[in-house]
Amino acid sequence: MPENLDCLACGACCRTGHDGRILVPAEDLVRWRRLGREDLIAQLQPGHFGEAAFATREDGSCVHLGTPESANACAVYDVRGTTCREFERGSRQCLEFRRDFGIE
Ligand code: SF4
Ligand code: SF4
Repeated sequence: MPENLDCLACGACCRTGHDGRILVPAEDLVRWRRLGREDLIAQLQPGHFGEAAFATREDGSCVHLGTPESANACAVYDVRGTTCREFERGSRQCLEFRRDFGIE
């Protein structure tokens, strides 16, 4: 059941960002500046629709994916982007991403 999905055993939605798909709206830039997190802004790349996006690695994973504890944890979880925050576990898109990565 979707409510039982374990994100830390998945991470699929953080691995689909090649060519700027995980968008970062302007409100995040304002928030990060306020928090003194210009480092996050410096790591963005151009995204679709004229917006910024999280930069990705060769394999399409977000540059912030992975911590010493877990390969599927977000290293900037507390201040992650609005797109990340609003992404719904168990949604149709979540289930599609999981399927694409062979995670049932
Ligand atoms: S694809 Fe769904 S289950 Fe997997 S990490 Fe993202 S929200 Fe969690
Ligand atoms: S910032 Fe964190 S939650 Fe958002 S895509 Fe990157 S790794 Fe995933």
